[in-house]
Amino acid sequence: MDQTLDFVFTSSPARIVFGVGSVTRLADELRAAGCRRAVILSTPFQRDAAVALATQLGDLAAGIFAEAAMHTPVEVTDRAMAAYAAAGADCTVAIGGGSTIGLGKAIAWRNDAMQAVVATTYAGSEVTPILGQTANGIKTTVRDAKILPELVIYDPDLTLTLPVGMSVTSGLNAIAHAVEGLYARDRNPVAELMATEAIRALRQALPAIVRSPRDIAAREQALYGAWLCGTVLGTVGMALHHKLCHTLGGSFDLPHAETHAVLIPHTAAYNAIAAHARLAPATRQFGGDLGGGLWDFAQSLGAPMTLRMLGLRMEDLDRAADLAVENPYWNPRPVERTAIRALLGRAWAGERPE
Ligand code: NAD
Repeated sequence: MDQTLDFVFTSSPARIVFGVGSVTRLADELRAAGCRRAVILSTPFQRDAAVALATQLGDLAAGIFAEAAMHTPVEVTDRAMAAYAAAGADCTVAIGGGSTIGLGKAIAWRNDAMQAVVATTYAGSEVTPILGQTANGIKTTVRDAKILPELVIYDPDLTLTLPVGMSVTSGLNAIAHAVEGLYARDRNPVAELMATEAIRALRQALPAIVRSPRDIAAREQALYGAWLCGTVLGTVGMALHHKLCHTLGGSFDLPHAETHAVLIPHTAAYNAIAAHARLAPATRQFGGDLGGGLWDFAQSLGAPMTLRMLGLRMEDLDRAADLAVENPYWNPRPVERTAIRALLGRAWAGERPE
């Protein structure tokens, strides 16, 4: 028995509405929450979805702001705050992935607006109290109860349009939350159950989505797994994997979900040495070798396999390793420069973890 039960567990106060067609319940849900004037948020790419949602909401829709962007730039938030005030709004509805949800969070962080989210990727931001925002090229992270969206609609129908490539990388991004949740310093038995079930659901769903992107049962399973993964991310602290992705995204402008997808087999293999027992519920699902099994799984899905493909140059690897060990943080295995440089080298070249 290596498990000592000694933990703090905070249950999320968010309301989750899950199911095919559940987006049609949004108006009733908003009214029940006391909302009367919603500003709908999206990226420019998902503007049509925002317009369709506004039509569906009728009188409840007070405006559309379709300028959400990656990394939540504060100048976009400032414009959104002005649009929110001009519309006399009392809530936001973010339809999209982490970028759009980040904008809703940034608004709520400033004015405590009630937030509803219609989640359309597997990134998991909708169920975390964490906001990453960028000012003058520097990304900072804040964690606060005000940032957690109050209502989340998960309608698998709305994920049918998520391109296969993005479904795969976003799904692997979600799996990374679950893997790190298993060995988190502040882990708890409920997060472990969620992480294990999440990996099962995504392990099953992602190959089916690659074969048939409009397989609604597979989309449902993937979104269910993503909700669980996001909940784990919002509940316990992350370690090496998320820190490395943050470093590569922030300093080398690598794309978010793709970076998670390339790195997760390598970071899992790195930490499996120290957290073998903790990772067992995941390892069992990947044939007894977590790093190698995840790498095979990602390859079978057609995921990007190298940091080189994502735009990292070979000559950046040393600096990336320096940055990765610059600010110490907790990890189940010590974060040592030589070992991290070797990890990054393998991830850059696309070698299967040993
Ligand atoms: P994204 O929100 O940037 O979306 C990528 C693109 O896909 C966008 O153009 C979007 O409009 C489009 N898209 C989304 N869903 C679609 C659908 N169903 N059909 C067609 N197109 C669709 O991608 P993401 O990976 O969800 O989010 C990444 C961002 O979220 C990063 O900035 C990351 O830091 C942040 N994030 C934050 C947290 C947190 O807890 N704060 C968690 C995860 C991610």
